Amino acid sequence: MLVLWPVHQLEMDHSQYLGIMTISAVLKEHTISTEVIPADLERISKRVEREEEVILAFSTPSAHATVYIELNRQLKRRHPQVFSVFGGTHPTYFPEMVEEEGVDGVCVGEGEYPMLELVAARAAGKSVNSLGNWWIKEDGTIHRNPVRPLIEDLDALPVPDRSIFRRAADQSSSHAIVMTGRGCPYHCSYCYNHVYHRLYAGKGNVVRRRSVDHVMGELRQLKEDGCGFIRFMDDLFILLPEWVHEFAGRYREEIGLPFSCLVRANLVTEEIVASLEEAGCHRIMMGIEAGNERLRLEVLKRRMSTEQILKAARIIRGAGIKLVTANILALPGGSIREDWETVDLNIRARPHYASASVLQAFPGTEIHEIAEHLGLLEDDHLERVSQGGFGFTTALKGTDPGEIRQIENLHKFFPVVIWFPWLKPVVRQLIKLPSNRLFELMYMACINFGTHFISIPPAIGGPLLWRKLNRRFLPGSRRSAKRAEAAGA
Ligand code: SF4
Repeated sequence: MLVLWPVHQLEMDHSQYLGIMTISAVLKEHTISTEVIPADLERISKRVEREEEVILAFSTPSAHATVYIELNRQLKRRHPQVFSVFGGTHPTYFPEMVEEEGVDGVCVGEGEYPMLELVAARAAGKSVNSLGNWWIKEDGTIHRNPVRPLIEDLDALPVPDRSIFRRAADQSSSHAIVMTGRGCPYHCSYCYNHVYHRLYAGKGNVVRRRSVDHVMGELRQLKEDGCGFIRFMDDLFILLPEWVHEFAGRYREEIGLPFSCLVRANLVTEEIVASLEEAGCHRIMMGIEAGNERLRLEVLKRRMSTEQILKAARIIRGAGIKLVTANILALPGGSIREDWETVDLNIRARPHYASASVLQAFPGTEIHEIAEHLGLLEDDHLERVSQGGFGFTTALKGTDPGEIRQIENLHKFFPVVIWFPWLKPVVRQLIKLPSNRLFELMYMACINFGTHFISIPPAIGGPLLWRKLNRRFLPGSRRSAKRAEAAGA
């Protein structure tokens, strides 16, 4: 029995999925074979033909749902014996995707033990119809099973199996993503988190943290493997100040690598930022999201004041840590005027790099309901937000196409106008022009600069960018692809 994960854009360094790594580690503890493979029809076909029994597993963010459903449909037509399951964010919040042609099962919520049970049951020739967390389709009937309780003790999980990605792709191991906990107590309307709280009501604490000891074990291993930079991907790294202070002291002594993390403005204090700085924090990402307080509070449901945001930015910058902000444009109930307010608040906060997305109102989130209530959803909305693009254009309707164009163009100028506020009058005129490739290229250049030279120390980000350009534009990219093919197929 082989569990095979096809991964879209596997050759890119950002395609490291902790969910896949952790499930793979759990399965390997039970001597089950696992592999990751590029999401390529021919290569998967060849690999499937060499195995007696394969479970195809797709870890599915909403932005990749359409790509994976179509790939799976083609695979199932060639190999009807394969069992295909989907997990991750999109299936968790939109389990109805089990009705799609070729989908045998959808895992709702945390996947480690549900996946183990499913593989074990299939290996033993038993029915999988009543396993917790699974929506299973059999002979046209759908079996919808409730979620089991959340994993209470995250220390009970093994260290993520990073080898599964290293073997399959020519990825760099110079940096690694790490999660020290799961869950967030807040309820921002555009985030899946509040749905998770509903889904698991009465089934345990959504917000959980690994012990500092357990995290250190994983970090020591990463350091031994040559990793030079750690990206902590917890939704709110500073949620528990006591934990952060204990972690910071030990991290400095035992690991000492530069790292980045995510914070929320209302939790930022001088003491906690001082601890992060002493531990070697290189960059902090903080959501500003909207400059307009009404949109921030009533539409995004982010209960924090403009003053709190500016104070947090001052503290972070004052500690000498790089500040990166996250923002969302094209909000329901907003207009280009409010998006300029977001620009203005970022200019006041003075981040080293300001990132922005055009809102994607994913199904299952509260902001999707708000947009629906305001009559802003096109009939093909779901298809448009799950086609693989991310945050470049809006999938919401607007009354004035000229204004939508201005907002989408402002998104491309967002980092530039915050770096150089004196460009504002020029940008106000430029965004009235038709959207074009030049604006997109400029935006991509800004993202790459922000990602590789600000968010990550340039000594690590520079070579990463070179690898990325090499893969994309130079003949060596074919060599890389062949190496990856040899490893994965
Ligand atoms: S603080 Fe972040 S993780 Fe928590 S609900 Fe808001 S957006 Fe989601």
